[in-house]
Amino acid sequence: MKRAIWWIKRDFRLLDNAALVQCLAAHDEVLPLFVFERDYIAQPDVSPMHVRAWTQALGDLQERCRALGGEVLVSKGELRKVLTNIRKEWGFTAIYSHEETGNGWTYQRDLELAEWCREHQVVWREVPQNGVVRRLKQREDRQPIIRERLLESAPLPVPDDLKFPSYFRALCETRVMPTVGEFFDLDAHREIQWDTLQWVSETQAHRDLESFLTQRGKWYSGGISSPNTAFRAGSRLSPHLAWGTISLRYVFQRTYQRRAENKALKSTDDTKRWTRSLRAFESRLHWHDHFIQRLESCPRMEYEPINKAYHQLRYENDPHKLKAWQEGRTGFPMIDACMRCLNATGFMNFRMRSMVVSFACFGLHLDWRAIHPHLARVFLDYEPGIHLSQLQMQAGIVGINTIRVYSPVKQILDQDPECVFIKKWIPELLAFTAAEIINYEKVTLGDYPRPIIDFKMESKRMKDQVYAIRGSEKGRSESRKVLEKHGSRKVTKRRKKSESDDQLRLF
Ligand SMILES: Cc1cc2nc3c(=O)[nH]c(=O)nc-3n(C[C@H](O)[C@H](O)[C@H](O)COP(=O)(O)OP(=O)(O)OC[C@H]3O[C@@H](n4cnc5c(N)ncnc54)[C@H](O)[C@@H]3O)c2cc1C
Repeated sequence: MKRAIWWIKRDFRLLDNAALVQCLAAHDEVLPLFVFERDYIAQPDVSPMHVRAWTQALGDLQERCRALGGEVLVSKGELRKVLTNIRKEWGFTAIYSHEETGNGWTYQRDLELAEWCREHQVVWREVPQNGVVRRLKQREDRQPIIRERLLESAPLPVPDDLKFPSYFRALCETRVMPTVGEFFDLDAHREIQWDTLQWVSETQAHRDLESFLTQRGKWYSGGISSPNTAFRAGSRLSPHLAWGTISLRYVFQRTYQRRAENKALKSTDDTKRWTRSLRAFESRLHWHDHFIQRLESCPRMEYEPINKAYHQLRYENDPHKLKAWQEGRTGFPMIDACMRCLNATGFMNFRMRSMVVSFACFGLHLDWRAIHPHLARVFLDYEPGIHLSQLQMQAGIVGINTIRVYSPVKQILDQDPECVFIKKWIPELLAFTAAEIINYEKVTLGDYPRPIIDFKMESKRMKDQVYAIRGSEKGRSESRKVLEKHGSRKVTKRRKKSESDDQLRLF
C-alpha cells in the first residue's frame, strides 16, 4: 500500500492543483493535511486577517473534499512533530506540496523538513503552481517555461477520487477548526472590521472571478485608481491568488476565453470598453509571477535592498512617526484615510498602496523594512514576493524604475475630490467641506491632527539622497546588474504588433 501526504499550504483548492493530482496518481492512499504552525503564526508578517483567511479557505476545502468522500486533517503545532506522530501510526513514504516562495521563516522550516524527510526515508516532492521558476539560471529561460505552464497546458480537473485513508475518518470528523482567537489577542486588533474583510475560499474565488469577468470588470480600465471605485472595479482576486484558492493558470485562461467571446461580438462602446479593461487586467496578472520571481531568485531582498548601491541609504525611523502613520494620525487626510481603511478592511488599491509607502519612506524617512511588517499584516492578500518588490520600488531604491513620490494633496484632487472616501474613514472630518479638507495644510480641522511634517521639504531631503546614489558610479553599475537579473523582458514594437492578438505577448 503506497501512502502519501498532500501538505496544503498556499493552495487551498481542488481545481488545478498539480501537487494533489501528482500525489494521487502515484499513491493508493492520500492524506490531505493542514498544520496551523504556531511559530509561523508568531512571525511579524502574519496577522489575524491571514489566519482568518486560512480558516475560511480550509472550511470550504473540507466541504469540497467531503463531497468526494475525503477529509482534511487539520492540526496545530510544529510540522515535524505532527508528521512524526502521523508516521508512527500510518507509515507514509511521500509528501507532496507546491513550491513556496515565502519568507525567511518558511524557507528555514522547509530546510528542516527536508532534513526530517532524509532521516525518515520520506520523499518530498515540491510541484510548481505558477510561473515562478526555481533555480532559474537566466531570466530568458523563464519565457518558454511560463508559456508551457500557464498557457499551453490546460487547468487540471478536480479529482474524482481523493483516495482518502479510512484510518483517519473518525479523527478528522472530531477535529474542530481552530479560531483566530486561539492564536491572537483579538482585543489588541479591535480596528479590524471582520464583516468587511473579503471572504477567501475556492468557492468565493470563482464567484469573484465570474462577477469580475462578466459585470464588474467593465469598469476596470479607469476604475482602479480611485479608492471610491477600485473596491468594485478591481478584480479583487489578490487574496485568492495569494492563498491559492484559485490558480493563476485558470484565471489567465478564463480571461482569454472571455476576451475571445467579447471579440466575437459586434463592436459597440460596451465591447470596446470591455476590450480595454480585459487587456489592462491581463497585463496586471502578468506582474504577479514577475515580482514573486524576484524574491525566489534573491531571497536576501527580505532583509536588504535588491540594489546594493542603496545599502548605504540612511533613514531616521522615528518611532512616533511610524506609529502615527500606522494608526492613520499623520494629519494628511488621504494618507490617514488609506491607513485606517487598510487596518479595518485588509484591502487598498495599487495607487493608494504606492502613495502610503512613498509618503512613509520619502516624507517620514521611514525605512521600507520598518513599514514592511505592518503592511504585510494588514494586506489580506500578503504575498511576500510582490510585497517586498513593491516596497523597494515605491521607496525608490531599485534603481531601474522612475522614482514616484505621490503628493497627498494631488491624490485627493485626482482620486477623491469630494472627500467621500476621506470622510468615510476619518469621522473627525465629517463636519468640514471638501474645500476645507483639501486646504488641510493651512487650516486647523477641529480635533484632527495638524500635519506632522512639512511634506515638500522632507520628501525633497530624501529625494536628494536617493538621486545622489542613483547618479553615482556605483548606483549606475548596480542598477545595470539589477536590470540584467530582474528587469522585465523588453517587447519590441515589431514583436508587439505581430503578437498583439496573441496571448504570448504578455510574457
Ligand atoms: C507597496 C505595495 C505592496 C503590495 N503588496 C501586494 C501583496 O502583498 N499581494 C498582492 O497580491 N499584491 C500586492 N500589491 C500589488 C497590487 O496593489 C495588488 O495586487 C492589487 O491592488 C490587488 O487588487 P486586485 O486583485 O483587485 O487587482 P487587479 O488590478 O484586479 O489585478 C489582478 C491581479 O494581478 C496581480 N497584480 C496586480 N497588480 C500587481 C502589481 N503591481 N504587482 C504584482 N501583481 C499585481 C494581483 O495578483 C492581482 O490580484 C502591492 C502593491 C504595492 C504598491
